[in-house]
Amino acid sequence: MSRVAYVNGTYQPHARAGVHIEDRGYQFGDGVYEVWAIFGGKLADAEGHFARLERSLNELRIEAPMGRAALTVVLHEVLRRNHVRDGLLYLQVTRGVARRDHAFPAANTAPSLVITARATDPAAAEVRAAKGIAVVILPENRWGRCDIKSVNLLPNVLAKQAAREKGAGEAWFVDADGLVTEGASSNAWIIDADGTLRTRSVTSNILRGVTRSTLMRVIADKGLRVDERPFTPAEAQAAHEAFITGAGTLVMPVISVDGRSVGDGKPGPVATELRAAYIRYAKKGGA
Ligand code: PLP
Repeated sequence: MSRVAYVNGTYQPHARAGVHIEDRGYQFGDGVYEVWAIFGGKLADAEGHFARLERSLNELRIEAPMGRAALTVVLHEVLRRNHVRDGLLYLQVTRGVARRDHAFPAANTAPSLVITARATDPAAAEVRAAKGIAVVILPENRWGRCDIKSVNLLPNVLAKQAAREKGAGEAWFVDADGLVTEGASSNAWIIDADGTLRTRSVTSNILRGVTRSTLMRVIADKGLRVDERPFTPAEAQAAHEAFITGAGTLVMPVISVDGRSVGDGKPGPVATELRAAYIRYAKKGGA
């Protein structure tokens, strides 16, 4: 089956789809993106991702290419044309195409909008979750506005590659105080000995994960305690369980941190149950 991409108002064969070489996303990383998990053809956590997209655009003073209602139609059309029932939907908006100059282009420069979708295999994802992932620790080297979901992802790319080269699935950044900020493409969590969940509170140095926010509701429904307080890598290694959250990984158990096993080195029961509960919740609320 051939894939289709949406590029600035047209649906193009994925293999040949492209933007201009002077697109500011390509030259400066001057743009934002969003990723939705798709369950049964519906957008998981739709509202949270739309709200964050609008916020990211506002913070960078990039004009929204269209309103939410029109965008929803296009997103579903991309899913339909790609026959995606379970998968991932990617959207990117950049400041548009203009002669290369760091400062903003003329106010009438149209933003560029690209949308792609791909199917994933839910059964294979469950097999991965049943194994869990290893995490490596790296020094935080990103800018001070990680709350903006910008396509400027070079430190995240390098961190993920460093993780891969060590056989790990994620890298956690650690700030100057020795505290974990978040993963290269996920939020970081641990579960203490008394069952309290811990994750860093949201400030400008991490992304407000939409999966994180939804999981907070799932956790509250279950009557579990959350402490929004950062932790050190040593605390993660000594924790009962650890996991990451993100639209791509949902809730993914972490079995080791920098080579030291977490708990008994297997996915923990709470993280495993939270994954199942998150998926049930997201499927019910899809748009
Ligand atoms: N933190 C970073 C740096 C990310 O890139 C992501 C997702 O891509 C997340 C956290 C998790 O965000 P969400 O749950 O909205 O996917």
